[in-house]
Amino acid sequence: MKIACAAFALLLAAFPALAQNVKITPIGSHPGELCANDRAIIFEDPTGVRFLYDAAQNVTDGNDPRLGTIHLVLLSHMHGDHVGDLKLKARGEGTCANSARVPAPNSTTAEVVAAKNAVLVTTRAMAGFVHNKVDTIHGSGKPMDFCPTLAVNVPVPAACSSRIDLGGVFTARAEGANQGVEFTIVYSSHVNDVAPALLTKAQQDLLKADGAQLGYGPPIGFVVKFTNGLVAYLSSDTAVFGDMKTVISDFHKASLAVINLGPNPGLFQSGAYAINDLLKPASVIFTHVNEAATEGGKLKAALMKQVKAPAYLAISERTMQFDGKGKCVSGC
Ligand SMILES: [Zn+2]
Ligand SMILES: [Zn+2]
Repeated sequence: MKIACAAFALLLAAFPALAQNVKITPIGSHPGELCANDRAIIFEDPTGVRFLYDAAQNVTDGNDPRLGTIHLVLLSHMHGDHVGDLKLKARGEGTCANSARVPAPNSTTAEVVAAKNAVLVTTRAMAGFVHNKVDTIHGSGKPMDFCPTLAVNVPVPAACSSRIDLGGVFTARAEGANQGVEFTIVYSSHVNDVAPALLTKAQQDLLKADGAQLGYGPPIGFVVKFTNGLVAYLSSDTAVFGDMKTVISDFHKASLAVINLGPNPGLFQSGAYAINDLLKPASVIFTHVNEAATEGGKLKAALMKQVKAPAYLAISERTMQFDGKGKCVSGC
């Protein structure tokens, strides 16, 4: 064991650059493609902290083998395609434009948090919903609660949530690491109505009587500071907004922008301006295209050709590696 460790240390010393990269692996409906319903992305810090950004409709359940170790689950908002009101029937089933999915009445977010005993990083309003669903899944009588502190070591002993809202900062540190991965909740110019199918029948009926939607406070994006220096902006669904320049670029200095496209938030129209003039990242990853963007892994539609920074598609099950400056060094 000692010799193996020493050999590994030597190997790391020989390739310090590779050891310091953040690994980013989208998991969608069809391996090798970027499909219409794809949103979920796994991030792995060089210290081993691993998290899932929006479980979405992209996992088969909380034990989807592609997940592996998951220390934290990020939830951007309550739309069914993010909190996960449906789950994959099976990986690769259905078409890339319309993957085969079945209901997930507890939400895929709660399924993954429960299966992995993970930390949920989201607002307190949305956490309340997931707390209840995780309790339903566990059925243990031990309610899920907020984590005791805003900085935790992972893995945590029991599933808990971040207790932060807009502007709040939560830190997760791997055992033995000097530094943690820092999560800041940022604004997203969107809405946060919950998928009705996730509510109780009584609540659904009440809402229906008034033609109402139930919102869970503001929807959010994230700025994640990794231990190698990489600063990733995870936009979630959002319209273009001014803080992309002042808060996300000027203050946080995001070097990688992970951007959700789609017709409703409007980034098909405003995305080039948002990225070139406001965010100015070193690299861009596109996801949430709401159409089958690739066929055989190749881009079908002309997508955001006006973006100046190198832009990559969130191809399912392809791992990209980014250095501390936001440059893709492998897998792009
Ligand atoms: Zn949405
Ligand atoms: Zn969406």
